[in-house]
Amino acid sequence: MAITRRGAFKASLLGGVGAAAAATTLPSSAWADTASAAPAARDAKEALRLLKAGNKRWYRHASRHPHESRARRAQLVEGQNPFAVILGCADSRVPPELVFDQGLGDLFTIRSAGQVLDGSVLGSLTYAVEHLHTPLLVVMGHQSCGAVDAAVEAHRTGELPHGHVGGLVGEILEVVESTPDDGEDFLDDCVRANARHIAERLREDDELGGFVSDGSLEVVAARYDLESSRVSWL
Ligand SMILES: [Zn+2]
Repeated sequence: MAITRRGAFKASLLGGVGAAAAATTLPSSAWADTASAAPAARDAKEALRLLKAGNKRWYRHASRHPHESRARRAQLVEGQNPFAVILGCADSRVPPELVFDQGLGDLFTIRSAGQVLDGSVLGSLTYAVEHLHTPLLVVMGHQSCGAVDAAVEAHRTGELPHGHVGGLVGEILEVVESTPDDGEDFLDDCVRANARHIAERLREDDELGGFVSDGSLEVVAARYDLESSRVSWL
């Protein structure tokens, strides 16, 4: 695979390309656990199907914990081919690899409280789409999100938390203020609106939007339910 100088630099930073090269250096017996250098899904539809199947195993308490073997780890030394990018919340209750029952090399995961976007998050997302050619990007909010709850609180009291947390909450406040407040479901309405809003921003992003327009990237919003362990697609 040809690697440009710029590409090689980025590859050295983030693990980059070259899984095929690794495949040629290992004995065939090392692949007995079905590890494969090829991405598990080549398009967004297939990637979504894999995520749905993995979440079904998770909420049924039938997780397989795939792709953790010695062979898989060896295979991934030279490169990665994740089939989905997950932008999720940093909350300890929503780790994407567990929620979707995936393993090493499967998901390119970026997490920030409330899935808030900044330059580092956008750069990481774009790296996966542009250089790893990952076809699906999921923006996943969740039930009882503390970051969104803090924005709801700021909306109601007119006061933002101080410092760095205030900056983060301020990023969510705009969505909260444009969501109709109909009482007890307001927090959850804001969680859904926030995930949808971020997905829309990514579809319209100067760089990522190009991949959406040419059909090589699909961006979807989702919500994880803590009680049922199920992911719903928004
Ligand atoms: Zn959260």
